[in-house]
Amino acid sequence: MPRVFSHMYGGQAEAARATGDARRAQTDVSILEARLDKAMLACEAMWTIMRDKFGLDDVQLIERINDIDLSDGKLDGKVRKPVVACPKCGRKISQRFPACMYCGQPILHDPFV
Ligand SMILES: [Zn+2]
Repeated sequence: MPRVFSHMYGGQAEAARATGDARRAQTDVSILEARLDKAMLACEAMWTIMRDKFGLDDVQLIERINDIDLSDGKLDGKVRKPVVACPKCGRKISQRFPACMYCGQPILHDPFV
């Protein structure tokens, strides 16, 4: 048991740990929200530069977003490509791993998945 909880009874220590866990989780969410806001700003800035420079319009962007969304078979605002085939052995492998777990072939994954 961490020293800070040593003077507490079991239930108090558990409650204090749960409170600490909740605070850390809230901090993690706040950090992720800030990072998402920055990513959204960068994405919008890139889009507006491309739109203005190449004469594109928002309808084209929306259509492309829908095309990409549909690449997994569902128009649901998400893209799920959980497995890919290894180019060397052909086995299905998770997008989470940088190399095939069966044959060791390095895998170049889609950077947007
Ligand atoms: Zn393989």
